[in-house]
Amino acid sequence: GGTPGTPVGSASDLTVEHSGTSKPKPDPSSLVFGKHFSDHMLTVHWSQQEGWGAPQITPFQNLSLHPASSALHYSIELFEGMKAFRGDDKHVRLFRPMLNMERMHRSAERSCLPLFDKAELLECIRRLVELDQEWVPYSCDASLYIRPTFIGTEPSLGVSRACHALLFVIVGPVGPYFATGSFNPVSLLADPKYVRAWRGGVGEFKIGGNYGPTIAVQHEANKLGCQQVLWLYGEQEEITEVGTMNIFIYWTTKDGGRELVTPPLDGIILPGVTRQSLLDLARQWGEFKVTERTVRMKELLAALDSGRVLEVFGSGTACVVCPVGSLLYRGKTYNIPTMKNGPHLAKRFYKELTDIQYGRVGSDWTMLV
Ligand code: PMP
Repeated sequence: GGTPGTPVGSASDLTVEHSGTSKPKPDPSSLVFGKHFSDHMLTVHWSQQEGWGAPQITPFQNLSLHPASSALHYSIELFEGMKAFRGDDKHVRLFRPMLNMERMHRSAERSCLPLFDKAELLECIRRLVELDQEWVPYSCDASLYIRPTFIGTEPSLGVSRACHALLFVIVGPVGPYFATGSFNPVSLLADPKYVRAWRGGVGEFKIGGNYGPTIAVQHEANKLGCQQVLWLYGEQEEITEVGTMNIFIYWTTKDGGRELVTPPLDGIILPGVTRQSLLDLARQWGEFKVTERTVRMKELLAALDSGRVLEVFGSGTACVVCPVGSLLYRGKTYNIPTMKNGPHLAKRFYKELTDIQYGRVGSDWTMLV
C-alpha cells in the first residue's frame, strides 16, 4: 500500500492513535439521528502524486481543509450509510457491507475520485467499529450508524478532476426509527413540480449533490402537514422514491394475483441495500409476483380507487421498512390502507431483516466484526 499510483488503500498499513479517554455515551432511549459520534474516526488521504496514504484511525476530530477544496465548491462529495448491530449474543455484525462498498465505488467513479479497494476499505471500517465497539448500543432496536465519506480536497477553483482527496469514516449510535413494535405510517407530499433525479443524471449515485436540494422540498412537505416527499418523475409522473427510501407497492393486480412492485434501477433510483434485500427475500419465498417496473401515479391512484392497494412502504437502512399512510397530490389527500392491512408484508420484512441483523437468525448477509 501507499505506493504512488496504486488504487489501493491497504488495511495492513493502518495506524491507530487512541483517544485515551472515552466520551460519555448517550442513553440509547434518547438518541437523535446523526448527532452523536464515537471516540475515533478513520481517514485515508489520496493524491495524484503519492497515491493512497496509509489509513489512519485517530481520535474523532475536526478536519482542516483548504478553503478552495473542491468538495466545498462543486460538491465533489459522496457518502454511504450502513449500520453495525449488537446481537442478542452481544456480537457485533455488519449487514451486507460489501453492497455499500460497491455502491461507494460506483459513486467514486462517477465523481472522478480515485478508486479504492473495496475489501481493504471494509477491513479498515471493521477495525474502526471493533475499536469503538462499546459505542454499538446494547439494544435490539438501536445500532451504530456508519458514515463513510469521500471528498475532493483539490485546493483550486478550477472545475476539474480532484488531484487530492480524503476518504473518512465516522460512526455514531442511532436509536430505533419506530418505538418498539409499533409502526408509524408517514404521510407523503407528491408534487410533480419537484424532481429528485432524472434520466442521464446522477440519481443512482449516493453523492451529496443529490441531497442538499431536497431539503427545501422536505421543508415544503412539512409545511403542508406531510412527513416525507414522494418523488415523481417526468410527464408520466413515474413514482420513484420516498424521501431517502426506495418505495414498494404491494397490491392485487387486475387479474386478481398478488404482486410486489418497486421501480427498476434505470438510473433515477438509488440502489438501496434494503431494496435489494427485500427483493431477494420475496423472490426466495416465491409466494407472490415480484416485479421491478415503472409505476405511474395514475396507476397507483386507480388501484387505490378500486381498492387493490394492500400496502405501500419505503425501505432503507434507517428504518428497514416505513409504512405509508396517505398521499397529498394536487391538493387532494388520498388514504392508503397500509396499516389496515397489517401491514402484514411490511412487518414480515421487518422481522426477517432485523432477525438477521441482530443475529437471531444465521445468514451469510451478516459479517461479524
Ligand atoms: N433512496 C435514497 C435516495 C437514499 O438516500 C437511500 C439511503 N441510502 C435509500 C433509497 C435506501 O438505501 P439503503 O437501503 O441502502 O439504505
